[in-house]
Amino acid sequence: MSDDFILSLKDIEKTYVSSGENLTIIKGLSLDLERGKKCVIVGKSGSGKSTLLNIIGGLDSATDGTVHVNGFDVSRMNERQINEFRMNVLGLVFQFHYLLKDFTALENIFLPAYMAGVPKKEAMEKALDLLSDVGLSERKDHLPSQLSGGERQRIAVARSLVNDPELILADEPTGNLDPENAVLIGDMLFSLSEKYRKTLVLVTHDMNLASKGDVCFAIEGGTLVEKK
Ligand code: ADP
Ligand code: MG
Repeated sequence: MSDDFILSLKDIEKTYVSSGENLTIIKGLSLDLERGKKCVIVGKSGSGKSTLLNIIGGLDSATDGTVHVNGFDVSRMNERQINEFRMNVLGLVFQFHYLLKDFTALENIFLPAYMAGVPKKEAMEKALDLLSDVGLSERKDHLPSQLSGGERQRIAVARSLVNDPELILADEPTGNLDPENAVLIGDMLFSLSEKYRKTLVLVTHDMNLASKGDVCFAIEGGTLVEKK
């Protein structure tokens, strides 16, 4: 594996066995992604986009093939490596925000850094900076229930960056939003990935968002087809 590639997938296969039948969702899928690139993956519902993202993030395992992310062999990590990988390498954004409902906007961004052992003052400063990056400084003491859907997702974007990850994985991050917020949050993900020099792998079926990537692939027949 070359160090130039932050992400290297080789001959990935994913087969689910459900009610005695084999269902192969991904087959012969390979991808090398250079550090700092913004990669968009599109595909029909059920084509395997979430499955692929979960395999990259070590949240699900491939039936066959190898997954390397930032020097980690994702399918063969021990517990210590898994913790380090989740804490320091990955930033995750999903369709649903998964904010902690009893914590404020600021605390939701701060906590993952504090839990990772960053000193309190430093973690707080980082969280405040990110809150400002997503334009919500004046909402810092609001609970998730006191924020709009778009604002909650902006907090989720800020949170994904707080531990200075190498790779951001975003699974339909604008899927629950109205068109105006979808554009706003999509743009934020791209611009903050650029600002902090992060690699982004974003799954979407929003073609407007897809056009903003450096590279774009569609999942078709279990493999990736480059679109531009
Ligand atoms: P997408 O995110 O592109 O909509 P998914 O990756 O969620 O698609 O799912 C791809 C296919 O795999 C779907 O047909 C889905 O039904 C199937 N699938 C997903 N998870 C499982 C599972 N745990 N067991 C069996 N089939 C699954
Ligand atoms: Mg999905």
